[in-house]
Amino acid sequence: MPELESFSLDPASPSDWSAVRAQGHRMLDDLFDHLAQIRERPVWQPIPAEVRAAFDAPLPAAPVALAEAHGRFMTQVLPYAVGNTHPRFMGWVHGGGTVEGMLAEMLAAGLNANLGGRDQMPLEVERQIVRWMRDLFAFPATAGGLLVTGSSMANLIGVLVARTRALGVGSRETGVADPSLGRPLVAYTAASAHGCVAQAFAISGLGTQALRHVPVDADHRMDLVALESLIAADRAAGLRPFLVVGTAGTVDTGAVDDLDALATVAERQQMWFHVDGAFGALGMLAPEIAPRLRGIERADSIALDFHKWGQVPYDAGFILVRDQADQLAAFASPAAYLARHPRGLAAGSPWPCDLGPDLSRGFRALKVWFTLVTHGTERLGAAIGHSCRLAQRLKDRIDAHPLLERLAPVALNIVCFRYADPASGLSAAQVDRLNTELVADLQESGIAVPSTTTVGGRTAIRVALVNHRTVASDLDVLLDAVLRLGARRVRLAATTRLPDPSFPLETTP
Ligand SMILES: *Cc1c(COP(=O)(O)O)cnc(C)c1O
Repeated sequence: MPELESFSLDPASPSDWSAVRAQGHRMLDDLFDHLAQIRERPVWQPIPAEVRAAFDAPLPAAPVALAEAHGRFMTQVLPYAVGNTHPRFMGWVHGGGTVEGMLAEMLAAGLNANLGGRDQMPLEVERQIVRWMRDLFAFPATAGGLLVTGSSMANLIGVLVARTRALGVGSRETGVADPSLGRPLVAYTAASAHGCVAQAFAISGLGTQALRHVPVDADHRMDLVALESLIAADRAAGLRPFLVVGTAGTVDTGAVDDLDALATVAERQQMWFHVDGAFGALGMLAPEIAPRLRGIERADSIALDFHKWGQVPYDAGFILVRDQADQLAAFASPAAYLARHPRGLAAGSPWPCDLGPDLSRGFRALKVWFTLVTHGTERLGAAIGHSCRLAQRLKDRIDAHPLLERLAPVALNIVCFRYADPASGLSAAQVDRLNTELVADLQESGIAVPSTTTVGGRTAIRVALVNHRTVASDLDVLLDAVLRLGARRVRLAATTRLPDPSFPLETTP
């Protein structure tokens, strides 16, 4: 049976290998060209219907050439991505990515490493990242950590570790509803916290009602007096406060909770202190930002994203836990097929699969390691400081302009504002609607991509400066476009006789 000796999906002959090699180099060159010419491209463009339809094809039985698949990527996928590599992408909180991280992804894929466990050097790369984060946040040698998809997963892991710590390992068998576990658990986070924290409560089985949303002060930080009184009321009602989740950089406005004060409350109340530092925690790398995070070093666990301010290509989230024993208690499970041995490939316990829900996992650590070593923390920190200075510059320009209104303080790198012409005579609801449409106009123009949020009940244009490629003149281009398209929207409103709710729905060129 000769085919039993020769079957493989790899190229069959040396000449096939040289063809795939040449094609691979072309693919790499295309990506370098794309990044080198990024400024000449629209940030984003709507997906044509025929392009979308091209990916509604039947499952392919026969092969197409690699060059053809690549051609389709270049014409049908690459032009219609979100655009967060572009310097004028300012929507949501997206990192810009690094060339080094991109290349590391290719190396990691070539190795096809599975980082669930076993005794392999790729795991030492991940452990290096864990030790670096331990040192960055001044955590003790007992700390453990894990690379995960993103902070949604990292925050979930933080909640699960805190839950198991509070209820005991036995609760993993009996479930959270076991009446012998005592008083029901209750936790606290600011009203401005990311939605994934509540989601973690839904997934954990504790339920979202077990999470109190504490009011915020004028700076959008958790109100500490309100926190203490909620805790007292819950204790009086027979509940058991077990966790407080602080935020280092809220997603709406970039506010940083008073982490040191939260650590003190958590200590006094014997609660777990978790910090959602999705984008803000890496502010530790910027000397001018780090003091604002004071108290983060007292956390029991920290969630953060390398793929936001760390600029590492997606996805690269991280959870750091002060005592790895707590993480093991929440996740490690015996299984015959995962047995450990003092020598051979089954050595090197504990494994990442003991520290989180995933067994098979990719080599995310490599792109993090490449980005950290090839840029160094000083330059990565400088990129973070740079985006905060850009935010201040944008704030100053907004404050100086009569048609622009700022809606929130600028703590870090996020600026919330809107176009509001006092002479336009528009109602409050119309101004909200105008700004929603204005952001869609901006996105469709390809000039710049901010997103929207609601601050104090009002619709804001939200600019999150994360991308290391953004410079001051990009902000000027953004504001020029806001003013031009905003004035057009006001003119449109003046000529539209439609009643309020449907105003001005249509987008005219
Ligand atoms: C982005 C973000 C998250 C969610 O992180 P993902 O990496 O998108 O899963 C959570 N909290 C905050 C404050 C964020 O900015």
